[in-house]
Amino acid sequence: MPSATLTIAGTLLLPHGARGVRLGDACGHVITEGDRIRVVDPARRAPAADLGDESCLIVPAFTDCHLHLPQFDVIGVDGLELLDWLERAVFPAEMKWADVDFARAMATRVADELLSFGTTAVAAYATSHFASTQAAIDALADKGLSGHVGQSLMDRHGPSSLLVPAPAALSQAASLRARGRVTPAVTPRFAVACSDALLAGCGTLAKRSGWLVQTHLAETEREMETMRRLHPERSYAEVYDRAGLLGPRTILGHGIHLGDEDRALLAARGAAIAHCPTANRFLDAGEMDLARHAAKGVATCLGSDVGAGPDRSMVRVARAMIDAAKQVARGRPERHGDFPRASEAWWRITEGNARAIGLPDRGALSPGRDADLLVVRPTKPWRDSPDPLSTLLYAWDDRWIEAVVSQGVVRHDAR
Ligand SMILES: [Zn+2]
Repeated sequence: MPSATLTIAGTLLLPHGARGVRLGDACGHVITEGDRIRVVDPARRAPAADLGDESCLIVPAFTDCHLHLPQFDVIGVDGLELLDWLERAVFPAEMKWADVDFARAMATRVADELLSFGTTAVAAYATSHFASTQAAIDALADKGLSGHVGQSLMDRHGPSSLLVPAPAALSQAASLRARGRVTPAVTPRFAVACSDALLAGCGTLAKRSGWLVQTHLAETEREMETMRRLHPERSYAEVYDRAGLLGPRTILGHGIHLGDEDRALLAARGAAIAHCPTANRFLDAGEMDLARHAAKGVATCLGSDVGAGPDRSMVRVARAMIDAAKQVARGRPERHGDFPRASEAWWRITEGNARAIGLPDRGALSPGRDADLLVVRPTKPWRDSPDPLSTLLYAWDDRWIEAVVSQGVVRHDAR
């Protein structure tokens, strides 16, 4: 790892309390050394900065807990219910990944796109193609991203060219290799598309490898009906639990249509739900009840869910989380004011999301943490706002991102 240093000046977005952030009072600075943050000084201006100045804001880089790499080119295919949308938009896009050169080039392009939006860590799905999934792991790692990429396993209810029988799928997934800061993830697509044998094999692989588990849970009503038909004897969450797939390293996309028994099960296992409010709105899947999940002890994090989610920006996903929580509370006086504030929204897309996918060194401007951060130059006079964190969240413009640093290296430079 290079021991090069970077001195970065600006107002710092700092950790505050258990689930929040605060802004430094003055222009401060951060010094990185190699791939780590060495100095964090929120009050003193640096004598000579490599990046930033007193007009800038320094923010930890964003983490996206749920997205699909092969779906970046089919964002916005509208008017279809989830299962139809998969068939008409998503599966044809994923079939293109049968060509490993195409997959590698696309994953590289998507990595650049993620960096340009300030995201340097992900929990991502590839496709059911083994070599292309490995190419995606390598491409993201080479671009300086961190996190998890999984071979999206399915052995039923999909086009034959994307189905891989359970024994082959499991042995392929087990032989994926980590590279740099990117690790394979155990990724059964969702229980509708996975036989019991495939799910059970994924549970065994998760136990043996210690890799992150990611799958989808309870996104739409029609999916729920299909699950009730396939598994009349147990709930959707129980299907995953029976396969040994629920644990503190499990990320479940969506979790909208759940009862309190399923919430209790998820809470007991420590599995987290990746809330994807922009995707839920786009597919008209329903509103996830964040407050109810929290009240029942279910951990949550945030994902863009590209391509169902149209927004690559985690700031817009965080805003949509607040909008969705307000929508759920509407017309219920006992819920008045029960929605996350801007401080929590910023925390979630930085430190909260990083912790959720097992990256404890990410997401905060603190000495010793990973040197993954953004230099932002807002064009609004946000400092005079009565609520600067909220103004920054809602006035956010991706064109404000001047530089993206990952592992102490400038990976995106818009100056
Ligand atoms: Zn998804």
